[in-house]
Amino acid sequence: MESQRKNKIENRMARPPVVVMMGHIDHGKSTLLDYIRKTNVAESEVGGITQHISAYEVVHKSDAGEEKKITFLDTPGHEAFSKMRARGAEVADIAILVVSAEDGVKPQTIEAARTILESKTPFIVAINKIDKPGASIEKTKGELAEHEIYLEGYGGKVPFALISAKTGEGVEGLLGLILILAELEGFTGNPAANAEGAVIETNLDPRRGIQATLIIKDGTLKKGMTVASEEAICSTRIMENFRGEPIEASTFSSPIRLVGFDRMPRIGSIFRSFKKKSEAEEYARELPPRSDPGRSTPPFQGGETEITKKMIPVVIKADTFGSLEAIEKEIEKIKVENAELKIVNSGIGPIGEGDVKSVSGDAIVIGFNVKADRSAGEVAEKRGITITLFDIIYKMSEWLAVEVEKRRPRIETEESAGRAKILKTFSRTKERQIVGGKVVEGKIVLASPVKILRREFEIGRGKIINLEKNKAKVSEVEEGSEFGMLIESKTEIVPGDAIESFSLVQK
Ligand code: GDP
Repeated sequence: MESQRKNKIENRMARPPVVVMMGHIDHGKSTLLDYIRKTNVAESEVGGITQHISAYEVVHKSDAGEEKKITFLDTPGHEAFSKMRARGAEVADIAILVVSAEDGVKPQTIEAARTILESKTPFIVAINKIDKPGASIEKTKGELAEHEIYLEGYGGKVPFALISAKTGEGVEGLLGLILILAELEGFTGNPAANAEGAVIETNLDPRRGIQATLIIKDGTLKKGMTVASEEAICSTRIMENFRGEPIEASTFSSPIRLVGFDRMPRIGSIFRSFKKKSEAEEYARELPPRSDPGRSTPPFQGGETEITKKMIPVVIKADTFGSLEAIEKEIEKIKVENAELKIVNSGIGPIGEGDVKSVSGDAIVIGFNVKADRSAGEVAEKRGITITLFDIIYKMSEWLAVEVEKRRPRIETEESAGRAKILKTFSRTKERQIVGGKVVEGKIVLASPVKILRREFEIGRGKIINLEKNKAKVSEVEEGSEFGMLIESKTEIVPGDAIESFSLVQK
């Protein structure tokens, strides 16, 4: 027994670290990921990475000439990270907290740091943009210390690198630091074990079916094995590395793509692999039911939002869950006073007839990197629904903002232009009356509606038909000037009343 356990431990060997970039927006996470990808990833023999896969492996050569691998998650941001942890999959071994030396510590830096610290993930601070004239490394270090991130040599132990993701300065040093930290942490894997790990991306390929990107965290996956992620099962018939090249086997810390899942696995769920398909099926069957009800919300039933707000239903179909989540975030950001976008249906794959049938003519139906089925187009046309397709998120956000603005109910408000005191009244015929007065505040405008006020109470309304100043027709009279006017109103005006000229503004 004792020797068996020892054996097991000895079977384990060091494995490459899986790294995630976190930090405030615009501090350079994507630029850094791109730089590392461009400089450290060998081009694929089959012609580059055709379809994006959300992780890549690099090989870093140490000063001593030793080559070691690092896996980067190619989706910056702490949301993906937190979500994966929330679902129990600890994908990242190391986090890089990217902080711009130009902007210093920002709200999302603090938020990211908190997430990293709470999850006890080892991390490195990358102080970026040091090439910028406005960069201040000392100020950034000071701000980090203010938020209890004490860097090495600065009263703490957090390793850090000074880098420029643009020029590449310091990036190799950062990779070296990652490997040193990984060695200190001692991440290991057992190559003899059946592979297990986490699902980091899923999508529906129109030709190939459901495919997913997995990160193997332990063990080895070989052709012939079967993978189960919760109740989704996949054979290893089509297995590719992160460059899209077919492979026969893969082991820990590598991102792989598997094609042919029988259903969509969830991002952030754990996968296991089995030598026999029947074992995978048994594993999937015996799992407790999903606690999370999934992503697709039922068709809108109505009546659940505040009555004062207009609810604009939105249906989104996208190519990947990653895109879908990004779109949902964008939609959350759109805020208007008296309307609200509500996602009533979302999912992966082309826009189908059912998607359009679930909503009314007022709905917004968007596809992101997907097409609409012909039948969906026909139903949409009949129902007066417009389907709009996008492939760039910010264009979609801009379009949505305009669309919401168009659809939201208008609120008409009255904006006062000015006030006048009525000094004299002249003849009155039917609903018309000639009055004379003096503007006491702002201005009185021809053709504008007016309120008639008696002791500050509105007693009626009218409209200025004719306006004269010094016996000449004018379009407005300013504060301090006297005027004569023909006013149309059902209310009889008497000297001492006030009139307020206003306009109706649509907001
Ligand atoms: P992210 O939101 O954190 O992914 O930030 P991005 O990578 O998109 O970078 C935001 C902007 O900063 C882009 O315009 C980059 O070109 C620029 N940028 C990023 N890193 C550097 C750097 O080291 N030096 C300079 N000069 N610009 C940088």
